[in-house]
Amino acid sequence: MRFRSHLRLAFLVLGMSVVPAAAAPPSWNQTDKSREAWQGVQFVYGSGEGLAISRQAFAAIETFVDAEIKNKHKPLRSVVLDISAMDKAGNCGGDGDCLLRVKPITTPCMPNAKPAVVFDADETLLLNLGAEYDSVVQGHPYSAPWWEQWEREGSGIVKAVPGAPEALSTLRGKVKVIVISNRDAKPTAPVAGDPVDFADYTIAALKNANLGTFKHSGADQDLFLQGEFGDKANGKDARRKHVASEYCVIAMMGDQLGDFADQFIGLKAPRRRELADSMPFWGRGWFLLPNPIYGSAIASPGDVDDVFDSSAHWPLPSPK
Ligand SMILES: [Mg+2]
Repeated sequence: MRFRSHLRLAFLVLGMSVVPAAAAPPSWNQTDKSREAWQGVQFVYGSGEGLAISRQAFAAIETFVDAEIKNKHKPLRSVVLDISAMDKAGNCGGDGDCLLRVKPITTPCMPNAKPAVVFDADETLLLNLGAEYDSVVQGHPYSAPWWEQWEREGSGIVKAVPGAPEALSTLRGKVKVIVISNRDAKPTAPVAGDPVDFADYTIAALKNANLGTFKHSGADQDLFLQGEFGDKANGKDARRKHVASEYCVIAMMGDQLGDFADQFIGLKAPRRRELADSMPFWGRGWFLLPNPIYGSAIASPGDVDDVFDSSAHWPLPSPK
């Protein structure tokens, strides 16, 4: 891309106006960072490939859930990691590094527990096009108040991830559909006219995107928001544990590794990749959607040497 723009500049300087015009550059003043983000935005929101991957993932989770339900041998374990059992097995005493080395152990299902599928919300069920438009075109950086404003004002204009409405509609006839999201349970700065329960904005967003009606309280609660049931910061393990104590979670879907286990959060890129590779659940209970726009996949510390170790360097050094 950079090479092409240099070439075009060279032709223009030489007055060679016969060169076909390249696509007009974006009119906004992009920094390198936002240009990288823009390519992710194009892929997820604008490309047929992005759409196809989403539909493929939802078809895969439907097929998997169907097979699990039809299996005469009902699943005996959720696909939610049992962190306490792993801690005990590794004799870790709560040491996170130690836990990373323990073979994954999943949570046993309670007898006769209803099967459930757990989804993340943002960029898993909901496409936050409006927020990303503001971010790309206005260069608006992420901040908690800005995101809160988007939750308030965007609930009527969010779009569904392709394939999500159809999949949730089908799955609801077979399993309990649950959303565990790090959207806000409460506003940091209440605004006059807000609904009593800030979760109502997320409930409205899901409904307006044709993803059905969710409940944030009561016995049938199927929407769990940030910090609930003892979760800290961006963690979701406590809510997953709570859900797995009531349901047999046969599948989970998200766009970040943290949507599956908190162990992934905060790791440097090579370690995250190694840990992801040690998990046997991809496509077998854990289903991941692509998100090259934001999140740990692109924000976790990592540089060129993390991506290309010496075995990948080319051209090869000249023999001496
Ligand atoms: Mg997400």
